[in-house]
Amino acid sequence: MVELRASTPGIMHQSFAGDVYNSAVYLKRCFNAIDTSMVTAVGKDTLSSAMVAQFEDEGLNTDLVFVHPTKSPGMYLIETDDEGERSFTYWRSDAAARKVVDFLSDEVLAALGKGDMFFVSGISLAVIEPESRDVFWARLETLKAKGVVVVFDPNYRPRLWKDESEAKETFEKAFHYCDLAMPGVEDLEVLYGVSDAQGVIEFCNRFSINEVVVKNGPASVITSLNSSVESHTITPVKNVVDTTSAGDAFNGAYLGSRLSGMSIDETVRLAAHAAGTVIQHPGAIAPKVAFSEAMADIAG
Ligand code: AMP
Repeated sequence: MVELRASTPGIMHQSFAGDVYNSAVYLKRCFNAIDTSMVTAVGKDTLSSAMVAQFEDEGLNTDLVFVHPTKSPGMYLIETDDEGERSFTYWRSDAAARKVVDFLSDEVLAALGKGDMFFVSGISLAVIEPESRDVFWARLETLKAKGVVVVFDPNYRPRLWKDESEAKETFEKAFHYCDLAMPGVEDLEVLYGVSDAQGVIEFCNRFSINEVVVKNGPASVITSLNSSVESHTITPVKNVVDTTSAGDAFNGAYLGSRLSGMSIDETVRLAAHAAGTVIQHPGAIAPKVAFSEAMADIAG
């Protein structure tokens, strides 16, 4: 999406962000050798071109970024009040990305089927048109049949859904299809009354998911791989500036690390370090150099 941030009154700083994009950026920054593609739809306008240029600047593959003939990207404004409390206003009801399922042709599916993983966010599921969800599930089944690992992060945002039952029905379908789930405790708290990470693991057990990673802020990360459950300690960051995209950075680094064959322990350590770095910078995307220097610390 196009992100606007009010700086001085009447002047906006404009950038690009969104949960899937943020995750893709951090995956690519941590694992440059992994071909990481964005699958979305933009418009023919200049902001769309700038957005695609930004994807490319981050090294992302844009072959599957489709151009809708009449729509434009969604946009949101971040405002910060005198107490530092942030609020968001969205213009996304007519966004090109809502139409992305229309572009998932057999040819596109064949290309996606060559990949190792396909990442689905609950935000994307909320944003695509409800009448195209059934087509989307069918496409997901095709990818699974081709051996692609389906990853799901519910990223629950109440205001994107008509009501709780629509969100629950859609999430349960996604949990059913996924091979790797990455929920946060907060995602399931309101919808299912789950109050801790262990409860999230138990909830996921209903769906026989091979790998589950439960994020719970600075408290802990709990993983379950082939039903073997492990708790991982997180070192809280002292200097938290902005927690936007902590979960996205965690996801990106985690998936890149697992694709590279690293163990769950090593992977959580790396992913938590990436997330802990990002929250020490304002906004969703930390400066490239500062991020890579911080990641070099853990490597060394
Ligand atoms: P969350 O989406 O809040 O669960 O955060 C995602 C990930 O970011 C967590 O799993 C942690 O690895 C990391 N994280 C979030 N908040 C903090 C914090 N205050 N200190 C250190 N790491 C954090």
